[in-house]
Amino acid sequence: MAMRWWLVAALASSANLACGAAPARPAAEAPSGTTPARPAQATCPVMGETFTPSDETEYAEYKGVTYWFCCRGCRGKFLAEPEKYLQAAAERGLKLP
Ligand SMILES: [Zn+2]
Repeated sequence: MAMRWWLVAALASSANLACGAAPARPAAEAPSGTTPARPAQATCPVMGETFTPSDETEYAEYKGVTYWFCCRGCRGKFLAEPEKYLQAAAERGLKLP
């Protein structure tokens, strides 16, 4: 008798587990932190100078385009007002990125 109750309880609790909270798997995330292909030469959108990007070079993606910066400060300035710098760069005839 006691065994039967135990069995029912066990079945019930396992059924609960099965139909309960199905673990919502987070969608497969694109690996973050992958460095975009580094160009041989890049132009800093803020300073307007051409330089050779290295592993340490700061970059940022804006509207699907990767921009490279001569220093961290320029990256911050650019991200604060990207349109301003892109427009200024266009007026100066800079080739970006
Ligand atoms: Zn800079």
